[in-house]
Amino acid sequence: MIFNPVIIVAIIVQSWVAKASRVAGAIMGFLITTGIFLWGLAVYGSHNQIMFFGIPLSQPVFVILCLVWYVFDTFSLIAALKPVPVAAPPVPGTPAATTDAATQAALPATDSTAPRVDGDTINFGCTECGKPISFKKRHAGLVIRCPECNERVIVPDLS
Ligand SMILES: [Zn+2]
Repeated sequence: MIFNPVIIVAIIVQSWVAKASRVAGAIMGFLITTGIFLWGLAVYGSHNQIMFFGIPLSQPVFVILCLVWYVFDTFSLIAALKPVPVAAPPVPGTPAATTDAATQAALPATDSTAPRVDGDTINFGCTECGKPISFKKRHAGLVIRCPECNERVIVPDLS
């Protein structure tokens, strides 16, 4: 009984799904792990041996591998469900923003991707797609997801 093709196909399918949606990918991970777990129990139930990259797996080792995989799936799901901080849209016309906005309007447009602080907001350009992003100062140094391209970028720490 060969384990490798099953596990490799499962991982490839999961990575496709995860590309479309991280939550769906994580849930898919649970389903795949459960499927492999049940399949493995059936294999051992019929007194067969599962081979994993040429190494015969004993039933306890197989069960532990599945449990480790469940832990991995759980962490993926938690990571996928973690809310991405949403950039606050600029509020035009507020007294505090007016002077800053006027100052920034005077700056050359070519400087739009250079990180700068505006009140308690850090404005910077996404390193992946170049779109302007605004985050609160307290997010400085954190890895966030660009609201435009969904890539991971680091909020510059200007303090
Ligand atoms: Zn981006």
